[in-house]
Amino acid sequence: MTTTDRPLRVAVVGGGPAGLYTADALTFDPDSNATVDILERLPVPFGLLRYGVAPDHLTMKLAVNSLQEVLDRPSVRLFCNVEIGRDIEVEELRRHYDAVVYATGADADNKLAIPGEDLTGSSSATSFVKWYNGHPEAMDFDLSRASTVGVIGAGNVALDVTRILVKQAEELRNTDIDEATLVALAASTVTDVHIFIRRGAEFAKFTTKELRELGELHDVDIVVDPEHIPADDAGELGAVAKRNIALLRAWSGRTPTGATRRIHFHFSTRPTEILGEQSVRAIRVERSGTDGCRDIPVDMILRAVGYRSRPIAGVPFSDETATIPHEDHRVIRDGAPQRGEYAVGWAKRGPSGVLGTNRSDAEATAGAVFDDRVELLTQRTEDFGGALNLLTTRGTRFLDNDAWNTIADREIQLGTIHDRQRIKIRSWDELVAAGSPAFTPS
Ligand code: NAP
Repeated sequence: MTTTDRPLRVAVVGGGPAGLYTADALTFDPDSNATVDILERLPVPFGLLRYGVAPDHLTMKLAVNSLQEVLDRPSVRLFCNVEIGRDIEVEELRRHYDAVVYATGADADNKLAIPGEDLTGSSSATSFVKWYNGHPEAMDFDLSRASTVGVIGAGNVALDVTRILVKQAEELRNTDIDEATLVALAASTVTDVHIFIRRGAEFAKFTTKELRELGELHDVDIVVDPEHIPADDAGELGAVAKRNIALLRAWSGRTPTGATRRIHFHFSTRPTEILGEQSVRAIRVERSGTDGCRDIPVDMILRAVGYRSRPIAGVPFSDETATIPHEDHRVIRDGAPQRGEYAVGWAKRGPSGVLGTNRSDAEATAGAVFDDRVELLTQRTEDFGGALNLLTTRGTRFLDNDAWNTIADREIQLGTIHDRQRIKIRSWDELVAAGSPAFTPS
């Protein structure tokens, strides 16, 4: 075999959608002659598909099936429960693989930078999303003491958390949400969710499909002030803005039905302070075009003002954009784009777009890896064995493809016990235990 005939060995850091779509693009064609090792910090793969997409978005969750097929390919190996900088260094990956692709996403949250933001009861929507999605590191939420919740932001995350807050827990029984979370949602005393949106409805980032879902919820009224809805001829409106505005206008004309839960939209309303002594009591907001501020009583605040990437130890990172600096998908290190180091997904582009955006981004990134192929293969002639050798030598307890399949089986067994299709295992230790043969679900 000549040097350029051997398989291209690629490490993908991050087992979420961007990383898995990259693995797909690199190995889909058997003639591409590439192998991929995926390194994931969490004990399980799928990232935001498992821990970000709302449990009731069942169609979107189906993307897991095609990504599972990628994991089933012999050319793709999974190493979960492996943290860069703790279990393995980036420098080692750069030595042991022909190419390294960073696909670590964005799972931290943006801040509002207003007083009171850190009071008890004020959290990021990201934390709430992690909680209802059974993320092993999620904080706990007690909804049995709250009646009014303020959600800040006009993106799809704001709509997701609002929908979960007002939906009847029973309606989530056909999802993989864990039993404890279902019980906590069933005990919720939340009746009103106020969404505070700093600009007009024409600038909202949410998509019409997600907005429309709110109007279809059982026993929920939507309250929109018709005066807050811009006229159709207000400036140049894009297609999404036009559809959103039409929907909001229709809602603003509805007579309340006396539903037990309500969603209140507040457009052009900017939060200036979260009020409370120890915990959240109210939110102070300023509506553009009016004088002064107004205090609205709330028991809980969720800030849905965007995700943010975290730096990876040993990888260049721009604090300003919270992304990995790159040119044509190649990481810029020491001032120059590197053949051999690539970035993909939100870690590269920032947190925007839908799932399909990551797919096309992954294909373009894999294209750059293939463009560099000959150079990458000639850079390195020795096979070091990659993550498998490094982690086994160190005794790191990683979870591989088989362990993941065992966990997936356990989650289905757990579902059967509770007369449901599948129930996610929440705790980190239980996931690790479930990946070993001696585990009995309860
Ligand atoms: P996003 O779409 O970027 O929305 C963030 C919102 O926060 C914007 O409305 C923004 O308002 C507002 N904001 C930012 N800073 C603020 C501040 N200081 N004060 C008040 N408001 C502030 O972010 P996201 O909702 O987190 O969604 C992230 C990505 O995931 C998006 O691409 C989204 O479509 C996607 N996603 C998709 C789905 C789905 O398809 N169902 C579900 C969840 C998420 P301005 O516009 O005024 O800056």
